[in-house]
Amino acid sequence: MFAPPRLAIALGSNLPQGDRPPAEILNLAVDRLGQLPTIASLQVSAWHRTAPIGPPQPDYVNGCAIATLQDSATIEPVEFLHQLQAIENEFGRERRERWGARTLDLDLILWGDRQIDTPELTVPHPRWRDRAFVLVPLAEIAPDWEDPETGETVAVLVKKCDASGVRQLESPCK
Ligand code: ATP
Ligand code: MG
Ligand code: MG
Repeated sequence: MFAPPRLAIALGSNLPQGDRPPAEILNLAVDRLGQLPTIASLQVSAWHRTAPIGPPQPDYVNGCAIATLQDSATIEPVEFLHQLQAIENEFGRERRERWGARTLDLDLILWGDRQIDTPELTVPHPRWRDRAFVLVPLAEIAPDWEDPETGETVAVLVKKCDASGVRQLESPCK
């Protein structure tokens, strides 16, 4: 029987939207993801405070979500990326310098075992394997997921990365 793919989304924020702080933005973004008609279920990691990469900027709050698509969903990954970008925009995302501070970043990390390489979308995400802020939360909810490119599990990848800049936020944070 056809099983709809699951997909992994990385969430990040290091700027408030008005008086809404990053952790709250992530909570609300998860609510919005759950409202997408293509998504049947969502599993969400803890939120973590992480040291920024790129230009000098505030620490991030990061986490990951795994979405299972509806049986009937026929959405293409690039359409789903557009839905993620629409949610980023709802939360005031502005694109200035590369890797600059932002109210919300939603990256598509994995789509089942698919490999996609187009100008607009690369899956697996090209830098996820080096990013503790993706691997640490993803390992909480999907340690057995195999990297379609290397066959290594998320549990193995997370052991190889430097997670010293990642600290779990104390609950209640979501
Ligand atoms: P990074 O991709 O290194 O995390 P970023 O998230 O800050 O950087 P964005 O400004 O959010 O980068 O996105 C830049 C472009 O990346 C988007 O316009 C999008 O087309 C492209 N992109 C390619 N693959 C992906 C992916 N797997 N997830 C999200 N965006 C992607
Ligand atoms: Mg990103
Ligand atoms: Mg992005």
